[in-house]
Amino acid sequence: EVKNSANSFMFFDERIKAELILHREIENHMEQALQNAEFEVYYQPKFNMQNNHMMGAEALVRWNSSHNGFLNPAQFIGVFEDNGFIIQLDFYVLEEVCKFINEQLIAGQHVVPISVNQSRLHLSEKDYLKKLKKLVQRYNIPAGSIELELTETAFADLQDVAESKAIFAAVKNLGFLTSMDDFGSGYSSLMLLNAISLDVLKLDRSFLAASEDSARTRDILEKIIEMGHKLKMQVICEGVETKEQANMLLSVNCLFAQGFLYARPMPQAKFKEFMEEQLAM
Ligand code: C2E
Ligand code: CA
Ligand code: CA
Ligand code: CA
Repeated sequence: EVKNSANSFMFFDERIKAELILHREIENHMEQALQNAEFEVYYQPKFNMQNNHMMGAEALVRWNSSHNGFLNPAQFIGVFEDNGFIIQLDFYVLEEVCKFINEQLIAGQHVVPISVNQSRLHLSEKDYLKKLKKLVQRYNIPAGSIELELTETAFADLQDVAESKAIFAAVKNLGFLTSMDDFGSGYSSLMLLNAISLDVLKLDRSFLAASEDSARTRDILEKIIEMGHKLKMQVICEGVETKEQANMLLSVNCLFAQGFLYARPMPQAKFKEFMEEQLAM
């Protein structure tokens, strides 16, 4: 017993030490990594579960670090949110997506709408709208081809509802769609849904973590989805891994899904092929 707990304590200690070291490594190398193009945009398709057609994709960042190997967002996004570097990284990802859309269109290829994650920090930046506008103009981005995903905590942060309303109106004017990401994972933002009109309601995968036959979860989902539709929002659920989950979602009128059942996040070159195959079908 005693030996075991001492071991697990040591293990815990070692793990914290390793995390602190990685944290410092990340901060030491992030600027150079951005310049060296070590950050790579992966794309995860979104599907219409009713007809199995791809209807969009989400851009998700990865870090091929020359110092620390391949890193997933869970390992570095939090650090960047704390030190503010996320502002630069998010714009890099957004610009890569803009470039990709622009290249596809110039080549006469179709492209599905692509969503991009935006940290809450952007909303308090003075030049956020100006920077968005520059990208739209520079890459000739058609209205409706990029969706900005913000988590509900970002909305909850907003002090001034009138000001946020104005920001979102301006973002829409530039042609961006807006999405409330991870809905249901944190504290409720129902009042914000009332105050600010968004295009997409993205249900957190925690709704699916409970067993798919849980009647309570299903009832709650049904009402949330109904509310989303009443508010004229597109409702999509993330983290769909099984056919049972897809069927359950369809039974409560959620048509759209993102999840391993349909496709995993993939590098741009692979996504380009995937999209061309899907759209040719
Ligand atoms: P998110 O925005 O909720 O993105 C969805 C996450 O769920 C992705 O993890 C995706 O790979 C994962 N996922 C998709 N389908 C399934 C599934 O069926 N099962 C399971 N278990 N997972 C699934 P990922 O790529 O590791 O990203 C994690 C989080 O990091 C994202 O969560 C997002 O909050 C953040 N993130 C990623 N890229 C960016 C970025 O460019 N900017 C910002 N600000 N945050 C980002
Ligand atoms: Ca997201
Ligand atoms: Ca999400
Ligand atoms: Ca999530």
